[in-house]
Amino acid sequence: MSKIIHHQIIIVGGGTAGITVAAQLTRDWFRRLDVAVIEPSDTHYYQPLWTMVGAGLAKKTVTERREGSVIPRGVTWLRDAVAEFFPDQYMLRTRDGKTITYDWLVVGAGIQINWDKVPGLKESVGKGGVCSNYSYATVDSTWEAIRSFRAGNAVFTNPSGAVKCGGAPQKIMYLADDRFREAGVRDKTKITFASALPHIFAVEPYRATLEEVAARKEIDCRFRHELVEVRPDSKEAVFKNIDTQEQLTLPYDLLHVTPPMGPLKFIASSPLIHGEPAHLCGPRPILSPLI
Ligand SMILES: Cc1cc2nc3c(=O)[nH]c(=O)nc-3n(C[C@H](O)[C@H](O)[C@H](O)COP(=O)(O)OP(=O)(O)OC[C@H]3O[C@@H](n4cnc5c(N)ncnc54)[C@H](O)[C@@H]3O)c2cc1C
Repeated sequence: MSKIIHHQIIIVGGGTAGITVAAQLTRDWFRRLDVAVIEPSDTHYYQPLWTMVGAGLAKKTVTERREGSVIPRGVTWLRDAVAEFFPDQYMLRTRDGKTITYDWLVVGAGIQINWDKVPGLKESVGKGGVCSNYSYATVDSTWEAIRSFRAGNAVFTNPSGAVKCGGAPQKIMYLADDRFREAGVRDKTKITFASALPHIFAVEPYRATLEEVAARKEIDCRFRHELVEVRPDSKEAVFKNIDTQEQLTLPYDLLHVTPPMGPLKFIASSPLIHGEPAHLCGPRPILSPLI
C-alpha cells in the first residue's frame, strides 16, 4: 500500500478560486499553515480576459501562465487530479492512486463545458461563423468572426443553468456591436440575443440598466429561448421556447455560443454532493482557532 500523505489544508484545483484561497491562507507567514493545492494541469488560464481576446483587444497567450508561477510561496503543489472523496474520513484518493488526508478541504475544480449537449455544436464551433469565448481553443474564432463580419445576422446565446460569468454572454455582444459600428456595417446587421433566462440579467438593478443598453443598441432580445441545435450546413441555429416548446430557427452569419455547463463528474458523483453539510465543512479542532 502506498504511503498516506497529510496536509492541514488541501485545495482541490489550482484555478482562479484555488490559487486565491491558497494566497489568502498563506499571506500571514506567522500562521505557518500547511497548505497544498492538487492541480493536474501545467497551465493556468486567466479566463475573464477571454472576453477581450474575443473582441480583438488582447492576445490569448497573455491569459496563459505556467501553473508553478502562480502557486503562492510556501504552498505545496501536488501535480495530480482528485478521483474520489471520502469526507467521513477526511480523505481523498487521486488519479495516480495516492491517498491524501487533510484537516480542512477546499474544493475549487471549476465547472465543465458540455459542448455535446447541443447537437451540431461540437463539430461546428470554431469555424464557419460559429464561435465561443468559453475555451482557450475557440476564443480566437470569435475575433475572426467579428473582424470579418460584413452584414447579416449576428446571434448571441445564453443557456439555462449555471455558467461561468453571467455577464460574459452579453459583454462580447456589446463589444461586437461596437466593432460593427466602427467598421460601418452595423446598419446592415441584425443582432439577436437569444437567452434561456426569463430576463436580461438576474440581478434587478443591473437588469434595468441592461434593458436600456440593449434597447439603445437595437438588439432583438428573445428570452426563454434555449439553443438546441446548430446546423452548420444551412447556417441555422435552432432554439426551443422553454414555455411553449415551440421551435424557432434563426439563420446566422455569426453565432456566438455560450455553451451549457455543469459539474465535473468526479464531484457530481461524490458524497460531497449528497453528504450531510456537517461532514463537508467540519474541521479537525486543532485548526479552527487559526483560520
Ligand atoms: C469568457 C469568460 C469570461 C469571464 N469573465 C469574467 C469576469 O469578467 N469576471 C469574473 O469574475 N469572472 C469571469 N469569468 C469567470 C471566471 O473565469 C471563473 O469564475 C473562474 O475561472 C472560476 O475559477 P475556478 O478556480 O472555480 O475554476 P477554473 O479557473 O476553471 O479552475 C479549475 C481548476 O481545477 C482543476 N481541476 C479540474 N479537475 C480537477 C481534479 N479532478 N482534481 C484537481 N483539480 C482539478 C482544473 O485543471 C483547473 O485548473 C469568465 C469566464 C469566462 C470563460
